[in-house]
Amino acid sequence: ATLREQSSRDPLTGLFNRRYMEESLDREVRRAAREGYGLGILMADLDNFKQLNDAFGHAAGDAVLGRIGRFLGAAVRGGDIACRFGGEEFVVILPKASLDDTRRRAEALRDGIKVHELDEPTRLLPPATMSVGVAVYPDHGTSVEELLLAADSAMYRAKAQGRDRVVVASGSEGRPIEVSAG
Ligand code: GH3
Ligand code: MG
Ligand code: MG
Repeated sequence: ATLREQSSRDPLTGLFNRRYMEESLDREVRRAAREGYGLGILMADLDNFKQLNDAFGHAAGDAVLGRIGRFLGAAVRGGDIACRFGGEEFVVILPKASLDDTRRRAEALRDGIKVHELDEPTRLLPPATMSVGVAVYPDHGTSVEELLLAADSAMYRAKAQGRDRVVVASGSEGRPIEVSAG
């Protein structure tokens, strides 16, 4: 059980890793469909992180990543699944959450990292912020791929709108483009 637990965790942040996220999302989408619940997904990417690495070094970047990851892991509720998607990107899965719940949770986490950043002994580094895309099953997609794409597209819009914000997927984001014949 310990080995299994370790192989599903990212060592730097203590969050679940991408493989575990993919397994969980697959399972949770099927459960949501079967039981008729909503399912929320947040895709979060830290803002201007490359600048932080360039200015303070990769080790400082790792320290920030580690503490933000630990904050996210502690801030989510029981049943929610917080994952390091890769690099400085995180995915949080919120089983049984509506669009409203998911948006509220996203705002709380985005806000929470700011407060958290002030408390930490490495506060001499500039505070990190994150941009978050929100997608929910079934509104923005009914498959893992559609939902991740929808959350990712919304996250990119959050970047384009100025970063440090939460953007909800638009109606058709994530759905494959339909090509009509004729
Ligand atoms: P943006 O606001 O558009 O997201 O700007 P950004 O600089 O954060 O751009 P992007 O998300 O594309 O780049 C991520 C950068 O994060 C690239 C790399 O320098 C850094 N990074 C990714 N993974 C790690 C890591 O494990 N440790 C450290 N220290 N840096 C990482
Ligand atoms: Mg980034
Ligand atoms: Mg990134």
